[in-house]
Amino acid sequence: MDLISYAELAVLLVNRPDRLTGLEGVRTLLEESGRPPQADRLAPGDLDALRGLRTELVTVFEAAAAGDEREVVDRLNALLRRHPVHPQIAAHDGEPWHLHLTEGGRFCDQYIVGAVMGLATIVTDLGADRLGLCRAAPCRRAYLDTSSNRSRRYCSERCASRANVAAYRARKKVGQDSGGL
Ligand SMILES: [Zn+2]
Ligand SMILES: [Zn+2]
Repeated sequence: MDLISYAELAVLLVNRPDRLTGLEGVRTLLEESGRPPQADRLAPGDLDALRGLRTELVTVFEAAAAGDEREVVDRLNALLRRHPVHPQIAAHDGEPWHLHLTEGGRFCDQYIVGAVMGLATIVTDLGADRLGLCRAAPCRRAYLDTSSNRSRRYCSERCASRANVAAYRARKKVGQDSGGL
């Protein structure tokens, strides 16, 4: 089980509040996350649970972006207590036996436990500074920095080049202003 890849579930949830306006959006979110099986079992309770989790995950990423490791850990520990792991071996939709982190009453519990365990694994294996919020204002989308030299600053290539262009223009403007003096 690749727990680090599960952290992508947290990023997806933080970055797509537009998917949490109704159950249809949540179905799309599950497809995007690669976890579509039995999405027809979704109930309104799942929507509320995912919205609640998203709010909490945003604060985790904000604490990480502010460099507050203690806050990141405290918030993740609170989430781990509320969403405990109860591993079960399962097989469905023609898949071979595989581990589920939990079999909760709600469909979304697996998603939630996966997202929280994924973040906890990143923090303990790689460091809390691997969670970030995009610095190309006003973007602020979440990202995971799995680069070998911890160099990631932006959520996407698009934001990185937008920030580079803005920095270049700012430098050029400073050059022109000082040239006129
Ligand atoms: Zn499964
Ligand atoms: Zn961005």
